[in-house]
Amino acid sequence: MSTPAIVAFADLDDTLFQTLRKLPGIDPHMLTPATVNTRGEAHSFCTPAQAELLRLLDCGGVTVIPVTGRDLAAMARVTLPFLSWRIVDHGLTMVAPGGEIDAAWAEQVRERLHDLQDALTAATAHLEAHAARLGCRLTRHHAHDLPFMTVLKHPEAQAEALEELQLRWEAFLTDQGLESLKIIANANNVSVLPRSLGKAEAVQHLRQHHFADAVLTLGLGDSLSDLAFMSACDFAITPPRGQLLRAVNAANLPQR
Ligand SMILES: [Mg+2]
Repeated sequence: MSTPAIVAFADLDDTLFQTLRKLPGIDPHMLTPATVNTRGEAHSFCTPAQAELLRLLDCGGVTVIPVTGRDLAAMARVTLPFLSWRIVDHGLTMVAPGGEIDAAWAEQVRERLHDLQDALTAATAHLEAHAARLGCRLTRHHAHDLPFMTVLKHPEAQAEALEELQLRWEAFLTDQGLESLKIIANANNVSVLPRSLGKAEAVQHLRQHHFADAVLTLGLGDSLSDLAFMSACDFAITPPRGQLLRAVNAANLPQR
């Protein structure tokens, strides 16, 4: 009898590793390098707990599948060994264990993205003047040669500027009835991207086509944008200082 498959779908940044800026006061000798920057220098690190979690999953024969917003180039700078499938570009690109891009998924994504181009262009154009006024930069990101996401950044991650622009963007989507798009935000950027074509849909596709026999699935993530794919797994694991648990703690939910 073969061992039942256990699969962990894991966001990377701020879930399995983070930059030193997020680890104030920690002894660097305790850390495991996890990524390099474009100059090849160590850039993100696992804490002892994160390294131990990865070791535990490995010892348990768990297949760990990254589910990341990183693009292919940024994924290539992750130095931790991930040997199975990899989901990159916020779910829009799927890489097989051998390194080839899943063509069937790419085709589905391309078809869906064609229908979203007008909405993405309108949302991007709406913010251009406001972004420039507040010293922010807008960058369009592509998957399979089509724009799929516009990312807004402030050079000093100025919270007030990012918040004003996020509110403007959300209001624009609501006013224009652009329900096919959503806004996600974290400490230093705000992005507009497809609402129902992302990490969750990629995880669902991979589970159906390649891990249908998995007896246990784990979802690991730190952000609200990870919530949908984590919710579709048997158990969810999230770090205490991540956006997700901070949001739950701040919500002051009534207990019934
Ligand atoms: Mg993350």
